[in-house]
Order: sequence, then C-alpha cells, then structure tokens
Amino acid sequence: QAKQNGGSQYCFYTEEMDQHITRKLQLENGLRKAVEQEGIDVYYQPQLDVFSGKIIGFEALARWHHPDLGFISPDEFIPLAEETKLIVPLGEKILFEACRQFRQWMDEGHDLERISVNLSAIQFMDPTIISTVESVLRQTEVAPEHLEIELTESIVQDSVQALPVMNRMKKMGIQLALDDFGTGFSSLSYLKDFPLDTLKVDRSFIQTIHENEKDRAVVDTVIQLADRLGLSVIAEGVETEAQLDYLRSRGCAEYQGYFFSKPLSKTEASALLTRSVAM
Ligand code: C2E
Ligand code: MG
Ligand code: MG
Ligand code: MG
Repeated sequence: QAKQNGGSQYCFYTEEMDQHITRKLQLENGLRKAVEQEGIDVYYQPQLDVFSGKIIGFEALARWHHPDLGFISPDEFIPLAEETKLIVPLGEKILFEACRQFRQWMDEGHDLERISVNLSAIQFMDPTIISTVESVLRQTEVAPEHLEIELTESIVQDSVQALPVMNRMKKMGIQLALDDFGTGFSSLSYLKDFPLDTLKVDRSFIQTIHENEKDRAVVDTVIQLADRLGLSVIAEGVETEAQLDYLRSRGCAEYQGYFFSKPLSKTEASALLTRSVAM
C-alpha cells in the first residue's frame, strides 16, 4: 500500500500515463492499418506568386481521420510514424500520390511549376530514398524539376549523411527547400554548403509582422540573405492581406497561407484550379 498523501498523487499520475499510453497504442495500431489500407489522405495547400497572384504549385500535407478518434494532427501522427518507422512506407505513398495528382493537373492543362513534398529525417536517411524518388518520378512521369523536397534543419544538421543524399537529388534535378527556416538551432554555414534552392520563412515570423519590429527584422533579413545567396524565398502561414502587402513591399516573391487558402482535398484543389483558369 502506498502512503496516504504521496499515494493518491502517484495513482493519479499512473492513470494519466495509462491514458497517454493507451492513446499512443491506439494511434500506433490505427496508423499501421491506415498505412496498409490507404487511410491517409493527401491535402494540397496552394503556393502563390506574391506579385501576379498566380497559383505556382501546391504543398502536399498528410491528413488522417482515425475511425474512432477523429481528426489527428500531423504534428501528432508524423512523429509517431517516425518513431515506428512507418514513415518510410507512408512517406512513399504520400510522395507517389502527390506526384500522381500533379501529373493529372498538368495533363488537364494547368500550368504549375511545382509539387512540394515534406520528407522527414528518417525517410531522408533511409538507404532506399533515392531509388524510391526515382521510381515515383518515373512511374508518375513527373519531371524532377517540378518536384520540390522540403527538408528541416534537423536533417541538415547531420551533414555527413545528408549532404550526399542532397547532392544526388540535386543532380537528378529535384528542387530542395529548407522548411520552417529560422526555427532550428543549427549554424548558418549550411546555407552555403548545402545545395538548397529555397528558404521557407517559418510562419511564426510572419504571424507577428505587424506587432513586432523584431519579427519584421528577421523576415527582412531572411529575404535579403536568400537574395544574396541566390536562393528563392517563400513565406509560410500568411493569414492577412496586411502581411501579404508587407511581403510584397519587401520583394518576397512567393507565399502560402490561410489568407488565400487552407490545405484542400484533391477535389477542392482541382475545382480551385479550374476556377482560376476561368477567371
Ligand atoms: P509544415 O511542412 O511546415 O507545413 C505547414 C503547416 O502549416 C501545415 O500544417 C499547414 O496546414 C499549416 N498552415 C498553412 N498555412 C497556415 C496559416 O496561414 N496559418 C496557420 N496557423 N497554419 C497554416 P499541418 O498540415 O498540420 O502539418 C504540420 C506539420 O506536419 C508540417 O509542417 C510538416 O512538418 C508535417 N507534415 C505534414 N504532412 C507531412 C508529410 O506528408 N510528411 C512529413 N514528413 N511531414 C508532414
Ligand atoms: Mg512543409
Ligand atoms: Mg513549414
Ligand atoms: Mg512545420
């Protein structure tokens, strides 16, 4: 028997832990099934030209509706998929589906520059990644120049492993974007050492552009830095017209965010493309 006072606290704690573990197991089993049975959908967030307003491409984002637990955020299931290595087969399916959809839009006559796909560190370090990407591009008949791989600083940090893979992708003609730029902790030297094409300014800096002089300074500096290094820059998480106006005044060429559109199902994204042709 546990002691009276400390005891109840201890029990409360285990109950919470139990719930946590139960949910985790439930999600893990659900995830395994979802990966096998195509239960995870790909949504598409439009990326736009700041100056012309034209849709340039889309970022593919994974969506999972658990049969009992409902909508699960990628911020919860992607780390779990990484932990269980399910991210490798899942990531391959997402890459395939995104490229297949992109091919379809191009075949329908839509003039898009890119499809952006997020790769996690585990996928990126997997020895089969290059052959997987090659095979997906071949099967979907998407030109490598149209595929943009989004990497985070955590990948770039392990430069001994990451650099050769990035160089291989670059040689194939694939575009490489650094996601959530400014939120990681690695040194800036990788910006000159790695074959990057694009910096994605993290949404946290965009969100407070109009409240915070320091965030404006960060955004301005990232835009200038990209320019000096010959990289493209895209702002993430643009939610207001004022934010977009600010980016335009700073010469930031591309953006994505709820101001124009949240991530869309393939049906919604197709309808949006058809509408924008008609306009
Ligand atoms: P991310 O790659 O930085 O994706 C951008 C996230 O910001 C997405 O969240 C998107 O829905 C959200 N977002 C876009 N515009 C706005 C805006 O204006 N306001 C706000 N508040 N949010 C906005 P989501 O889809 O929940 O994904 C979260 C993260 O999960 C992604 O961040 C990415 O790191 C990861 N993720 C999502 N799908 C995949 C995937 O297929 N593979 C891998 N490896 N990771 C993925
Ligand atoms: Mg991303
Ligand atoms: Mg991001
Ligand atoms: Mg993110």
